[in-house]
Amino acid sequence: MADQEQTGRRIQVANARPEDAGRGLARLPLAVMAQLQLGEGDVIEIVGKRSTPARVVRPYKEDEGLDVLRLDGLQRANAGVGSGDFVQISKAEPRPAQRVVFAPAQNNLRLQGNPEALKRVFFQRPLAAGDVVATAGQQQVPPGDMPPQLRQMLAAPAYALQEIRLIVVSTTPKGIVHIDADTEVELRAEYEEPRESRRADVTYDDVGGMAETIDQLREMVELPLRYPELFERLGVDPPKGVLLHGPPGTGKTRLARAVANESEAEFFLINGPEIMGSAYGESEKKLREIFEEAAKAAPSILFIDEIDSIAPKRGNVTGETEKRLVAQLLTLMDGLEPRTNLVVIAATNRPEAIDEALRRPGRFDREIVVGVPDERGRREILGIHTRGMPLGDRVDLSELARMTYGFVGADLAALTREAAIEAVRRFMPRLNLEEGTIPPDVLEELSVTREDFMSAIKR
Ligand code: ADP
Repeated sequence: MADQEQTGRRIQVANARPEDAGRGLARLPLAVMAQLQLGEGDVIEIVGKRSTPARVVRPYKEDEGLDVLRLDGLQRANAGVGSGDFVQISKAEPRPAQRVVFAPAQNNLRLQGNPEALKRVFFQRPLAAGDVVATAGQQQVPPGDMPPQLRQMLAAPAYALQEIRLIVVSTTPKGIVHIDADTEVELRAEYEEPRESRRADVTYDDVGGMAETIDQLREMVELPLRYPELFERLGVDPPKGVLLHGPPGTGKTRLARAVANESEAEFFLINGPEIMGSAYGESEKKLREIFEEAAKAAPSILFIDEIDSIAPKRGNVTGETEKRLVAQLLTLMDGLEPRTNLVVIAATNRPEAIDEALRRPGRFDREIVVGVPDERGRREILGIHTRGMPLGDRVDLSELARMTYGFVGADLAALTREAAIEAVRRFMPRLNLEEGTIPPDVLEELSVTREDFMSAIKR
């Protein structure tokens, strides 16, 4: 088949940058765009285990010459692939939708329905039923030379103070559609379970300043979980235990959740201090039960937070519970068959304080350091937490990143929340609380300003 007649093609998937997350973009190599006769702003269908549409944009500069398609975490979930997997892509012609129904894809979310605002957020965005989409923010509009239609889509005002994940419940007509001025948009109030096992939970896009750590964890944990047969074939045993080592609030738990999600694995969490202090024998029993449950649900990730509290150096402990718990944990780790397809990730701020026996081969024999973010990392984390936040013109995330030396992810998340609360405080006088709902035009004007951030920093 001659190149110019080609309509579809296989290509390997890679992760998009966090600032692209939630925009429904597909960054394609220029050569592939030419080959499939695609221009910027065109729509493609991406087929993995499932399929999802996306809008084509140019590759990142550093990607020149690389044959990869960059997708964000939600898109990878929508297409049923992880990065490194191959997908089939082809040009698609989205049809104007007569009707699109959305519902929250987050369990704990109450939405005040404003379908008109939603319509603007997703204006011209290619959509298909079953997709999980996010109301990503408008603050980082990529550089010029893009079709007005695309610019409009990227600049759509968000309609809430946080990024919200929604599932496209149905579309009329079926297939790939886009919302235009005549589309009727419905927002259901109740939560709708995203299809199959993929949740709208955290993905790698939601963990900032950790590109290298993510790469390491992908190799150690995601690959073995996704392709156990590969490791079996090679005759190497994947790691059973990985120790994440770093201060509180740096995103260790969030990272472990993201790895579980991206590996399509179940996630189980044990909180060290919580499991302690039960009646005699109860703590070990709990530990055994959760290991059993996780093994049954495999592929799975079992995350043990603050492992130092349940497995301190045996020489240092006086309590009987600790001694028995360490012994139990060792037994459980040793009892894990390599074929179980369960990885235990443990987190601690004090690796020197945990029992050395736990760090022997076959137990927690891999270690990854999760440090305090640098300025670039802070900038990325601020970007993540202000996604979907309507930001005032003078908000400069780079400036905020410079001003927040020493802040960890949890501090930065708290800062953005505080700033949003400042904005709401300013708006309070304009709200008629008796009405119970916020008029859409007031909501439209609500934005978080530079001053809001400065007051929040001072707190
Ligand atoms: P840890 O497990 O290291 O104590 P968590 O994962 O529980 O930290 O982080 C707490 C919260 O702080 C997260 O839910 C998230 O909102 C925010 N956070 C921390 N680190 C990051 C990060 N690297 N990127 C984005 N958000 C982060």
